[in-house]
Amino acid sequence: PAFLQHQAVSICIDLENTRFQYCKKTRSSNVRQINHYIAGKLYSDETESTASVYAPNTGDVQAEVFLANSNTLQKAVDSALAAQADWAATNPQRRARVMFKFKELLEANRDRLAQLLSSEHGKVLSDAQGDIQRGLEVIEFACGIPHAQKGEYTEGAGPGIDVYSMRQALGVVAGITPFNFPAMIPMWMFGVAIACGNAFILKPSERDPSVPVELAKLMTEAGLPDGVLNVVHGNKEAVDGILDHKDIKAVSFVGSSDIANYVYERGARAGKRVQAMGGAKNHGIIMPDADLDQVVADLVGAAYGSAGERCMALPVVVPVGDETAEKLKAKLIPAIKDIMVSHSEDPNAHYGPVVTGEHKARIEGYIDLAIEEGAELVYDGRNAQIPADSKGFFIGPTLFDHVTKEMRSYQEEIFGPVLQIVRAKDFIEAVNLASDHQYGNGVAMYTRNGHAAREFAQRVNVGMVGINVPIPVPVAYHTFGGWKRSSFGDTNQHGMEGVKFWTKVKTVTQRWPDSSDTNDNAFVIPTMG
Ligand code: NAD
Repeated sequence: PAFLQHQAVSICIDLENTRFQYCKKTRSSNVRQINHYIAGKLYSDETESTASVYAPNTGDVQAEVFLANSNTLQKAVDSALAAQADWAATNPQRRARVMFKFKELLEANRDRLAQLLSSEHGKVLSDAQGDIQRGLEVIEFACGIPHAQKGEYTEGAGPGIDVYSMRQALGVVAGITPFNFPAMIPMWMFGVAIACGNAFILKPSERDPSVPVELAKLMTEAGLPDGVLNVVHGNKEAVDGILDHKDIKAVSFVGSSDIANYVYERGARAGKRVQAMGGAKNHGIIMPDADLDQVVADLVGAAYGSAGERCMALPVVVPVGDETAEKLKAKLIPAIKDIMVSHSEDPNAHYGPVVTGEHKARIEGYIDLAIEEGAELVYDGRNAQIPADSKGFFIGPTLFDHVTKEMRSYQEEIFGPVLQIVRAKDFIEAVNLASDHQYGNGVAMYTRNGHAAREFAQRVNVGMVGINVPIPVPVAYHTFGGWKRSSFGDTNQHGMEGVKFWTKVKTVTQRWPDSSDTNDNAFVIPTMG
């Protein structure tokens, strides 16, 4: 790929299996530098490589982020190891109080964080606020950790025998997060893990790394002991270092499926507990009796909001029957024409630029592919008139009709503002499309028929289901996770599933025998009979 070399950088290298440009260090740079956060302080190592962080609105490089080498990772692990035991021994109410205080600080800093988030990601400010809000809700769940982490107790499980179980922290754990929710997804992970008594190493996306550091600083301000939350930036080298590190006991990953699969296998081989969430291609099934005005209102937001860069976006719509398809298309076209794409801080913008020029090129590549494969291009976003700076990574809303399941542009995740209409002749064919797809993150169905909706929810082979709800992201005290290639591992994010993932159960069977009883026989397997 052709990479721009910005003037402050001396040597630039394109590492083959990464998608970004990594540059050998530059001390003379005038751009902002984004440091690691270790043991309650910003940390950088002059010898490390850096990666460019773009301003998607303008296309310029706005910062460079340090990419951890093994020494930096080891420093983070050492600080986490030093802090973890005391933190786990801190009573759960006190741990919860840090979460309460963090919630307060997050609310007070929300506007500033949203602006920073939007400037690196490109999502509009209201959407950046939503990113923070959905993470904050997991922190609210974590405030209830004394209740959620309580164990179980059976009195008199056998003669004079009581059994109890407790959920103990795992130790030092890690989270590796994607670019598309730089506030919410780190909080899904560290909110629950830290409340449970773990020390955490966060490796956020190197494309929008600033907000995670700000979150860690606020956790320190909220009273979290140094070393309990560390942020280590990096790429594959840092990820591999985490996966192989003997002192890191669990890894939570969210990102694309091939990397999720890799993380799951490599982490498991190193003896870790791993949950790895992957990509998505969510379908919206539209039954002939659906309220099409409601469908269109929901669909434009779900397909094009955040430029389609959401794992719970709705990039595939499946109208049942040709009549439904024609009516839907007729209503969709004017709604798409009304979508305003602009600078992410423009209050009138429905969505802003995509995250990098490279990602923009990838999305356009999928549009070209769909045309080659014979899909009908109904609305072309490639040459959209964007009122903001022309160098920004903008791409207009795009609509395809007559997409079929044989097309690669349907089978793969595009992760951009591209909506594909795949027509189904009946309910069964529509359900099978969603069920047979390689991804199984979310799915939605629009109908007025309760029986059809119930059948659908029961039959469909997908992890999160919306009935007349376009983006069925579960609330924080439920749990988030897809099926098939959308998730590797068996435990979801946040809610009680999160508490399970970040703790291990210890079960104690105890008795206090009466010393006058001499009838004890230790030679048979104990039964409670
Ligand atoms: P990505 O897979 O490129 O990156 C995710 C993380 O993996 C980043 O921290 C990155 O630094 C690291 N990484 C990148 N290349 C690597 C490599 N070769 N080896 C090891 N680690 C590597 O994902 P992204 O582009 O940042 O995020 C978008 C993807 O995430 C989409 O596929 C989207 O569907 C998915 N996603 C899924 C969920 C979910 O819950 N299922 C939620 C959000 C996003």
